[in-house]
Amino acid sequence: MYFHVQEFINEIAADEPDPAAANALQEGLGGQFGEMRTMMQYLFQSINFRGPDGKPYKDLIQGIGTEEISHVELIGTTIARLLDGSPRYQGKPADPVDKPGSGGAVPLNIALSEGNIHHYLVGAQGALPVDAVGNPWMGSYVYNSGNLVLDLLYNLMLESTGRLQKCRLYEMTDNKTARSTISYLIVRDQAHENAYAKALETLGVNWRTSLPIPKTNAESFPEVKRLLEMGLQSKIYSFDLTGQSQAGKIVQGMSPSGDGTHLDASEQTPAGAPMTIAPERPEEFSPGADADLRALIEATAAMEMADIDATFGRMK
Ligand code: MN
Ligand code: MN
Repeated sequence: MYFHVQEFINEIAADEPDPAAANALQEGLGGQFGEMRTMMQYLFQSINFRGPDGKPYKDLIQGIGTEEISHVELIGTTIARLLDGSPRYQGKPADPVDKPGSGGAVPLNIALSEGNIHHYLVGAQGALPVDAVGNPWMGSYVYNSGNLVLDLLYNLMLESTGRLQKCRLYEMTDNKTARSTISYLIVRDQAHENAYAKALETLGVNWRTSLPIPKTNAESFPEVKRLLEMGLQSKIYSFDLTGQSQAGKIVQGMSPSGDGTHLDASEQTPAGAPMTIAPERPEEFSPGADADLRALIEATAAMEMADIDATFGRMK
């Protein structure tokens, strides 16, 4: 079973809205090699895992799959932030919907010029489980043959392709909100690439000079370089509340990427970053509360919580 921590896995930098960047990032969320696919692929491989002797491999896949849930949350929130407010709309949140901001702009007018009409109509200024051209995410993307070596090979291919696409995404936009998340995912893709490569090494594979895939100059991206200097490409988190993960039996020794670092599975989770709730958007009728509904919402929000003991918490 899963717990939730009300933090983002990494900080999302502040910048102007950028609907075109949001559109591109949809590929990284709901595309064939996006975060929804990594999340579902590893969770299904973990659910269907066979062979009690292989527990360290199951624990590795399960821990990475759990991190991928947070990647879905991170990139989805990033897309929503990039869409939240047209760059040319100067209205105040309290303005009536039919009285848009200065300059005669209409609030969602950006939808007509950015090729995102369907997205704005269906999902408004939020993320959708679709790729960059609007194809819905599909369960048939998930690869789970049940053969351990095959599944690990495919996972390595998936992380490598994800990293390739994120490096391309980085070069499409200089928006700070987009780049903060893209850079984090580039580095974590490499960490997962390293982990699956190491798991395959324990099963007899010798990578020699193949890794990392792709051979990129991602370390020349300043945001990526900062995360590499923190060693995030070589850490695997257990996301295990009860201390039973054996993934550390696999994730140790020199990194298969040949960067001279040691793989490290000693941490339960990353530090996390504060989580906030998006503002109301009257122009998209979200959350769509009139005075009566608002009074009821505020009454609920003002209610006293019954005393609840915090039974579970993060292990420190
Ligand atoms: Mn990911
Ligand atoms: Mn990954």
